[in-house]
Amino acid sequence: MKILIADAFDSRLPARLAQFGEVTDKLDDLKDAEVVLIRSKTQVDAAFLAKAPKLRLVIRGGVGMDNVDKKACAARDVRAVATPKASSIAVAELTMALMVAIPARLIEGHLGMREGKFLKNELERTELSGKTLGLIGAGAIATEVARRAAAFGMRVIAYDPYVKVHPLAEMKPNLGALVAEADVISLHVPLTDETRGMIDAALIAKMKDGVILVNTGRGKCVVEADLAAALQSGKVRAYGTDVWTSDPPPADCVLLKAPNVVMCPHLGASSKENLGRIGDEVIAILKDFPRK
Ligand code: NAD
Repeated sequence: MKILIADAFDSRLPARLAQFGEVTDKLDDLKDAEVVLIRSKTQVDAAFLAKAPKLRLVIRGGVGMDNVDKKACAARDVRAVATPKASSIAVAELTMALMVAIPARLIEGHLGMREGKFLKNELERTELSGKTLGLIGAGAIATEVARRAAAFGMRVIAYDPYVKVHPLAEMKPNLGALVAEADVISLHVPLTDETRGMIDAALIAKMKDGVILVNTGRGKCVVEADLAAALQSGKVRAYGTDVWTSDPPPADCVLLKAPNVVMCPHLGASSKENLGRIGDEVIAILKDFPRK
């Protein structure tokens, strides 16, 4: 069985996979591969599948199958699975890092020091304690964020049409009710037809003035031009994001130059520990996968 590792995984994984067959990272080997391992970079669509006549299994290391055309896979009888359990802590920690860095003015303070400026009087800090965190999506990552936010003294509310009760968050009946109460909003939804562009001018208008928005979910959940305008006007005080419409974002992405944006290059799932856990889930999937 030939296994193609198409995206970035734990450096120890190829050796661990050798028990299942021949392991390669050369894209030319797609034509012979029965198993392909991807993360968020590789797009598995009809064109990709056409180059992979022997493919039987796609493993998406991480959460979110928006880069996999599941219908095209099903039509070819290719199984497509993710490793949904591994990444929650890694993404929750990065979410908290963005959430803490913004009101602490960490980036501006750091860059000021680099430029020889001591901005002690210029940078006004605020605290997370006592503020309300609004979670959009109340799944695995949101739950880990809720746990950490509670430790910071935040009140946690959430909106998720598929979760009625949550042990750590007060559920709100709709998005409008959530954003009207939140001082900080954090996105933890998959990219679907429902969530694509959900943060638009109409929803932003319902948010508190000076709200902080954090996005470690998906870049396409945000209408970038609407958010850039809200950052420009100060309606949204700051946007902390790990996710973009593509990896990397196009050079003309308006958020790259908008004010008060704290940016990460899609690092959410990439902790060393998490890559190890993703590897464990990949091995478990392959152990259960019938060899021909
Ligand atoms: P999850 O499936 O446990 O939780 C997602 C939640 O979103 C579910 O509870 C679902 O009911 C809810 N949801 C779906 N549609 C919704 C809507 N319209 N409004 C509100 N809630 C809705 O998944 P998870 O592990 O918590 O991951 C969430 C997302 O985070 C992933 O789908 C992926 O897009 C993103 N993610 C990003 C990174 C990163 O590197 N930044 C890593 C992993 C996952």
